Amino acid sequence: MTDAERGTAFAVSIAGSDPSAGAGLQIDLKTMNACGVWGMTVVAALTAQNANHVRAIAEVDPVFVQSQIKTLQEDFPIACYKTGMLGNAPTVRAVAGALPDGVALVIDPVLIATREYRLTDDSGAKALVEELIPRATVVTPNIPEAETLSGIAITDAASMEDAASWFFDCGASAVVLKGGHAAFRKGVDVFLDRNGVRLLSGNVYPFPDVHGSGCCFASAIASYIALGYPVAEAVERGKEFVDGALRYAVEYAPRRFTMNPGW
Ligand code: PLP
Repeated sequence: MTDAERGTAFAVSIAGSDPSAGAGLQIDLKTMNACGVWGMTVVAALTAQNANHVRAIAEVDPVFVQSQIKTLQEDFPIACYKTGMLGNAPTVRAVAGALPDGVALVIDPVLIATREYRLTDDSGAKALVEELIPRATVVTPNIPEAETLSGIAITDAASMEDAASWFFDCGASAVVLKGGHAAFRKGVDVFLDRNGVRLLSGNVYPFPDVHGSGCCFASAIASYIALGYPVAEAVERGKEFVDGALRYAVEYAPRRFTMNPGW
């Protein structure tokens, strides 16, 4: 079946706003659009940031976060939700309380921006582990996030697989532990589901972290799940999508922004 024959698929990003549009809700929406789904956005937190700095964060009332989700649910057959920066425990709980049981859910456990700014506090991280990761269809930590959440120091391929198993044991149906920050086997992600571990290798580009690449990857996975692809295939397609966005990343000193020719 082609994507067109599948009809319109709806996906929702529940995440933080990045006014520079390099990460957060803005890149999520661009990604969903480019992947061919009708993306929608629930504002869970606000940031003031540019290419160099995150200057400030403002919380959004968790009741209002829930209200945004419930209002969309009244009207749209939402095929997949993706979460990003949720900020704090009350917001994580509000989101968990608004999601129907058994829904497809991609959890990107955003904790710290590459520029060392804390985006989700400790209690929010704990709430993610308790309330959302156990319900994840796919959880997509990077190495620093996996280390913080699991308490496992990731120093080699074996400890990376241990950390992926930790998320699986928390109840996530599938795990993509991203290798972009690895000092070993760089660029190789560990994918784990009930069929076991699979390594996903990708191109390694000669520039460090690209702003928003994690958001882009998780949103692409959510889009392909919304389009009806099996999870393992959605992850592979998501990896291809983010590879394109890294290949065409635009330089905005001192960083690069993900850029997909389709945007
Ligand atoms: N701002 C928001 C709202 C985000 O969701 C994220 C990442 O998920 C970031 C900033 C951080 O992006 P990066 O670490 O790629 O700079």
